[in-house]
Amino acid sequence: MPVYLDYAATTSVCPEAVHAACEAMTEGYGNPSSGYGLGQEAASALKADRGVVAEALGCLPEELIFTSCGTESNNWAITAAVKKNRRKGRHIITTAIEHAAVLEPCKALAAEGYEVTYLKPDRSGHASVEDLTAALRPDTVLVSMMLVNNELGTVQPVAEAVRAVKAYDPDILFHTDAVQGFLKIPVTPSQLGVDLLTVSGHKIHAPKGIGALYIKKGVKIKGLLLGGGQEGGLRSGTEPTAQIAAFAAACRVGRERFEENVAAMNGIKEYSLSILSGIPGLEVVSNGEAPHILAVSLPGYPSQMMVQALDAEGICVSSGSACHKGKASHVFEALKLPPRVRMGVLRVSFDTATTREEIDTLALALKKITSERVAAM
Ligand code: PLP
Repeated sequence: MPVYLDYAATTSVCPEAVHAACEAMTEGYGNPSSGYGLGQEAASALKADRGVVAEALGCLPEELIFTSCGTESNNWAITAAVKKNRRKGRHIITTAIEHAAVLEPCKALAAEGYEVTYLKPDRSGHASVEDLTAALRPDTVLVSMMLVNNELGTVQPVAEAVRAVKAYDPDILFHTDAVQGFLKIPVTPSQLGVDLLTVSGHKIHAPKGIGALYIKKGVKIKGLLLGGGQEGGLRSGTEPTAQIAAFAAACRVGRERFEENVAAMNGIKEYSLSILSGIPGLEVVSNGEAPHILAVSLPGYPSQMMVQALDAEGICVSSGSACHKGKASHVFEALKLPPRVRMGVLRVSFDTATTREEIDTLALALKKITSERVAAM
């Protein structure tokens, strides 16, 4: 088994979720829209599962629409929010450090004539509410600010930002991508005050292929898929009951063990900081507030080369977001890191299962690789 230190990219499916999915696929396999007993049993299970996910998030079950992933939720939230407010204007505000699943729909809207303001983070990786307030305009229709940055682990000031936006104009819709925050830090849409919020299953030990969009009660946005009218008519398509059952099971476990999980991740992160800081030349790029993400750099050692060299040692870490596929990270560019530091960034991300021995193995491998190779650039 590899030493897996890339939990911000994805997680293994927990046994409870595997069990729930198997049961839904083999016994409760009815279509929730079918009127006979087997279908209605599936409908009851779906209702119960929605309740569990809603409880983990702290929202009403009817405020939760299941989607296929965080990317889908983000795309839908952003495009539907601006269309809802199209008579008001065409100005969107987001941050320069969002995930591609937010930046790309914003880019597509810009091509359609929308104007997008990208808030720049400070050196520590936080967007500022002052900058946001200064960027608000009468034609602003949407603000999208992520909760936890996936490359830095920094927690963005979402609740404060919502207050500033709503005080300026309550009609501006506020979306947050909470994919990296859910079950890592306390996340409750009503406490944050957001209108729309995205979560994804595979970051919390549910399978890939399931996510959700929270839509605040009373906020009416256009549906995503037309068809049989599932998900309150907003996202038609037969519900993926096995993924939903697994998502609910993972949420139940994550919620029950939330405090001990966070404490465990914080503990391993602290240990990692102390061990990795001892590696000659290593710089800590971000020790964000989230308990599971640490960004470090070995200036002069290109990240892609390091990821491959570590892989050869049986260790999985990321050169930043797994979604970049080799492209230089816009997040580290936005932080204005010196090129040598930026090119050498590695993201180490943890889970409750991460052990000190795994961190020691990583540290040893980093020392070995850097002593074998002369720093490039
Ligand atoms: N948003 C953030 C912050 C992420 O980290 C990710 C995945 O890495 C996504 C969105 C996309 O989620 P999904 O993989 O479920 O599409």
